[in-house]
Amino acid sequence: MRKPELHWQILIAILLAVVAGTLSGTEGGIGNVTFYQVYDFVGTLFLNGLRMVIVPLVIASIITGIASVGTGKDLGRLGLKTMGCFALFTSTAILVGLFFVSVMTPGIVDGEPAGESLNLTLDSDTVNSTLSSMEGRDGGDIIELFIRMVPTNVVGAAVAGDITSLIFFSLLFGYFMIRIPERQATTLLVFWQGVNETMLAITMWVMKFAPIGVFGLIARTIASTGFAAFAPLLVFFLTVTFALMVHIFIVLSVYLRVLGKVNPLKHLVAMSPALLMAFSSASSNATLPMNMECLRNNAGVSDRVTNFVLPLGATLNMDGTALYECVAVIFLAQAYGLDLSFATQVTVVMLSLMTSFGMAGIPAASLVAITVILTAIGLPVEAIGLLLVTDRILDMMRTAINVYSDSCCAVIVARSEKETGILV
Ligand code: ASP
Repeated sequence: MRKPELHWQILIAILLAVVAGTLSGTEGGIGNVTFYQVYDFVGTLFLNGLRMVIVPLVIASIITGIASVGTGKDLGRLGLKTMGCFALFTSTAILVGLFFVSVMTPGIVDGEPAGESLNLTLDSDTVNSTLSSMEGRDGGDIIELFIRMVPTNVVGAAVAGDITSLIFFSLLFGYFMIRIPERQATTLLVFWQGVNETMLAITMWVMKFAPIGVFGLIARTIASTGFAAFAPLLVFFLTVTFALMVHIFIVLSVYLRVLGKVNPLKHLVAMSPALLMAFSSASSNATLPMNMECLRNNAGVSDRVTNFVLPLGATLNMDGTALYECVAVIFLAQAYGLDLSFATQVTVVMLSLMTSFGMAGIPAASLVAITVILTAIGLPVEAIGLLLVTDRILDMMRTAINVYSDSCCAVIVARSEKETGILV
């Protein structure tokens, strides 16, 4: 019998994980070993396998990407198209979020700010410990972002897994590498191409374990979070979910069709393993290798565009995150009875756009940016306590959108470069 395709295997794994996680909870087990420990072990092992390739993959793919784009005009053109696409996608995502949160008003119940009736503000210890555990994550301060982008020590940045500064260094490296004498330039290019290919081969191998790994990750989340805690925040949860669905199924599909002349459904199916992986890991960074693999092998985009657009997109283009930030902040403002003037809304939109740019593609990174926006519009940072309850599941969804939007951008750029062989 033929094995089902990878996305089906992953999907089945997710369904089984929901059942297993619900049945076992965190306590169930055999002897001294809980099932939760088993989920955690399998999931972490799989994630580590993918994380292991991220640093060399980001460096090698950007260097070869930039080098293969060539000099001067070509690079400028590709860069402009990519950044234009990122900006267009992210700003539309925020507007979709703003629309839904204004229409569904999750923070207002019976015409009154829902802050008190929600009565969900976690005790300050929980909030404080969450806030302090977020320290050092990316996002937030824009000036800080630029400062951090230029690493003082490249090896240190690689050790710390600081993707933003590695991207910056790799862009420079690739740019100048092809401007040195040809003999050395060729040697370096061949070397980095080799590293890139090897990392992708390792990724393919790790991906074979995806169904088991995803099972572990999802079962772990369901076992520890459960669904019961969601009830009081249901309207907020649904607002984010609807907005994300509209963005992926309508907005991005229209962009794919109109700008890329690509069949959105085919593209979605081609990218589905990466989407499911993003959903399970809640990390764009951890999904990057798989996203590149799907884009090249299933969607038929060239190495040149894949290597250029996806690593940049993993930190610079975060539609789901930007949308979520906007909805979350406006929700809290509604719940706390803050006057939502036009100026406040513009501030939230602008800050969502700027903070999503350059945010680390790791779980719960948005929370940092949200604290920045809350401060900017005069709400207490503790308000974030309300969001913690639903954060993990919403994080899984927004990460899938983040990753998918990068692939849409890449396909549109590839089509505009007249590439052939793309799945249309
Ligand atoms: N987890 C998201 C990502 O990795 C970032 C976030 O919104 O928290 O893309």
